[in-house]
Order: sequence, then C-alpha cells, then structure tokens
Amino acid sequence: MAESCLFCRIVRKEIPATVVAETDHCVAFRDINPQAPVHLLVIPREHVPSLEETDDPALVGRLALLAAELAQKEGIAESGYRMVVNTNADAGQTVFHVHLHLLGGRPMGWPPG
Ligand code: 5GP
Ligand code: ZN
Repeated sequence: MAESCLFCRIVRKEIPATVVAETDHCVAFRDINPQAPVHLLVIPREHVPSLEETDDPALVGRLALLAAELAQKEGIAESGYRMVVNTNADAGQTVFHVHLHLLGGRPMGWPPG
C-alpha cells in the first residue's frame, strides 16, 4: 500500500536515501546493500507494486532510459552494466514498489543466481 510502502516513503522523503536523480516521474537512489560498486535503484514516483501490474510503456521506458543515463554519469557505460527488475517470488522481489536495479563496476557472471 502506498501509505506504508518503503519506496513511496523514500519518494516522499520520509525515509532518508542517497538520491542521485529526480525527474517528474522517477527517483533514483543508491541501494542500501550494494551488490556491486555501482548499485542504484530507479523507481517511478507512482506506486506500482511490480512489473506485472503495469502496462504503461512510458513508465517502463522511463526507468530504463534514466538508468542508461545514470550508467553514463556513474562511469560504467563503457565497462558495462546490468539492469534487473526482480518480479515476484522466484526472482526474489522483496519490495513491492517496482524498481529497476542498475549494477556495474565489476565483471558479472551469467546465468544469474
Ligand atoms: P528486490 O529484492 O525487491 O529486487 O530489491 C529490493 C532492494 O531494495 C534490495 O536490493 C535492498 O537492498 C534495497 N533496499 C531495501 N530497503 C532499502 C532502504 O531502506 N533503502 C535503500 N536505499 N535500499 C533499500
Ligand atoms: Zn510504493
């Protein structure tokens, strides 16, 4: 629920976060438990629980395009990066406000765990 949702609370600045970008539609901030030298979360301001609960191409497109822009700013565009949207239980989604992980700054294995 938007009222108690952790990421909605970060959007409203009720919970501190290291915010690296804010646009009309999105907020990007550093993950509290980084899995790579660069680990950002890009979220819509609007509360959408998961990728399964939106059919808005603009919302999904904005997340990916802002993440690509931030990869440039963070200096990982050339070395490489990964975008991940964990969706529901098998993927290990823990926060039910859709978010795109931007990871980079080290070589990554494939397939992911
Ligand atoms: P998920 O597992 O749902 O794809 O990812 C949730 C992510 O949110 C995790 O990587 C976790 O470290 C991050 N996270 C959880 N709580 C907080 C918080 O309070 N602040 C920040 N910045 N990241 C958080
Ligand atoms: Zn939310």
